[in-house]
Amino acid sequence: MSGMRPTGRLHLGHYFGALINWLEFQEKYDSYFSIVDWHALTTKYQASREVPNHITEIALDWLAVGINPEKATVFVQSAIPEIAELHLLFSMITPHSWVEREPTLKDMVKMLASNEQEAWDKVTYGLLGYPVLMTADILAFKGSLVPVGKDQESHLEFARDIARRFNSIYGTDYFPEPKPKFTETPLLKGVDGQKMGKSYGNDIKLADSPEDTLKKIKQAVTDRTRIAKSDPGHTALCEVPWPLYQIFVKDKLEQVKQECESATVGCVDCKVRLAGVINDFLAPVRARRAELAADPKQVREVIEFGNAKARKVARQTLSEVQAIMGMVRWG
Ligand code: SF4
Repeated sequence: MSGMRPTGRLHLGHYFGALINWLEFQEKYDSYFSIVDWHALTTKYQASREVPNHITEIALDWLAVGINPEKATVFVQSAIPEIAELHLLFSMITPHSWVEREPTLKDMVKMLASNEQEAWDKVTYGLLGYPVLMTADILAFKGSLVPVGKDQESHLEFARDIARRFNSIYGTDYFPEPKPKFTETPLLKGVDGQKMGKSYGNDIKLADSPEDTLKKIKQAVTDRTRIAKSDPGHTALCEVPWPLYQIFVKDKLEQVKQECESATVGCVDCKVRLAGVINDFLAPVRARRAELAADPKQVREVIEFGNAKARKVARQTLSEVQAIMGMVRWG
């Protein structure tokens, strides 16, 4: 089980940090990939009208890279009202101290404002409940494996704690305790040398044109000590192109290093070559994306198909939960 917030088109950081692993998981596991639009509202509630468009964009990106709706269940969170109901039931058994100490929440609060007090003033009831909603996302499908980076294991603690608490309160072993599936998530730098992110304006999007990609890569920060083309470069000091080469052209690294350090290739030419490599890599993704974008009905059908599959499972989970809790459906 994994999800992404629909906040805009995806970039290379999303691909190498998550999607590349999802492609593997859909072959091995009964996978659920959710476009978590309610989560987008926890911080971007004022931009709610932009969410439907972002959902389409993210679905296009997923399908274009090879997420296969025949193999994985691809759905939109808000199409599954049972997740909201489960979230409500979980909120009744979640001590508020658990929510307040949750590291995910602390990270999100930091993004709201630079001043800590100001940031906490912006925390809504919905944002505070973010980890409970995340738990409902996972447990609605009795998710047993959740892909996370090694530094994010604490994010899953919360879901495990709620699963354990539910089982203990109601004397059951109904919910599995979701386990982390550790994934390699290389920290991809944006062209300015900071972490790649849409909000930093330094990202290379999967759907960028080859021309835009070249333009962006040409701005990438290289070895700041290399002033003239005739100066030997240092790959160890090259901030953006070299790390990207390490991801994209593992078999030609020696050649790139040798040409850099012997000053036989200047940084501009080196970056043009790198842009070509990235554009070659993304060409089939972009072609597939353009094909899908030209047929919005097909994308809509894929989402509806996944929604129906996901809803069936979540409905079953909710009805079993209600039975365990001894609740009667009155309507
Ligand atoms: Fe980086 Fe290439 Fe310049 Fe060397 S030649 S510093 S690898 S951009």
